[in-house]
Amino acid sequence: MICPPRLPASVRQLAALAIAWLALAAAAQAPLREQEIAQCLPGEAATWGDGQDRPVAGGALRLAYRHDDAPPWFNADQVLAVVQRAAQAWSACGIAVQVQAVAPGGRVPPGAVLVLWSDAAAGGNFGLANLRTYSLALGPAAFRTLNQRNPTHPADDTLQMVVSHEMGHSFGLMAHSRRCVDVMSYYDNGRGERCFTRAGGMPAVRGDYRALLPTACDIARCRAVNAGTLAAAAPRQP
Ligand SMILES: [Zn+2]
Repeated sequence: MICPPRLPASVRQLAALAIAWLALAAAAQAPLREQEIAQCLPGEAATWGDGQDRPVAGGALRLAYRHDDAPPWFNADQVLAVVQRAAQAWSACGIAVQVQAVAPGGRVPPGAVLVLWSDAAAGGNFGLANLRTYSLALGPAAFRTLNQRNPTHPADDTLQMVVSHEMGHSFGLMAHSRRCVDVMSYYDNGRGERCFTRAGGMPAVRGDYRALLPTACDIARCRAVNAGTLAAAAPRQP
């Protein structure tokens, strides 16, 4: 008769403990990220100081999406929904925002920021906001590379994160955030300093720790930078 190998009791207990600890760690990690997304504690809205935030001109934003040259695995409605989701989330900052689709090769409404697919305009990145040319470019090549290297990766999530991040620049946030979870974050500053979480450094996570939509701290910064414009636009007390 072949018996299953028996481990000494102490080893079995240790193994059970390790499994319980892993389960606890996994459970604790998700709520922390969720808490960070929902709440901005004093001192957490810190940036790398790599840009000067500035208010949205006119206190309102108009966005137009053109689907030309998009990678074939994204359809027009899907990307438009991603742009709308980001715009809706950022509008919590108090800036009125409108999103519309532009037909292939169609004219961009005057004053609108054009969300478009262009490797030249995205400069090899997943996305790039150019406030001077009123464009928010998405890079087909970067998404193609991601798709080739990791076909099972949820491309929708990356797209949402990129659109939310670049749209944050259009909402006036020019500096990048030091808080890992913020959609405006940079995980490091290129000089060896790393972003922070409430647990200290960045926890080992599969995929991205960064949120897909603006967090409470992203919105708090957006409100702060646009406060003057919003106050000016508000109806005056009699
Ligand atoms: Zn950026």
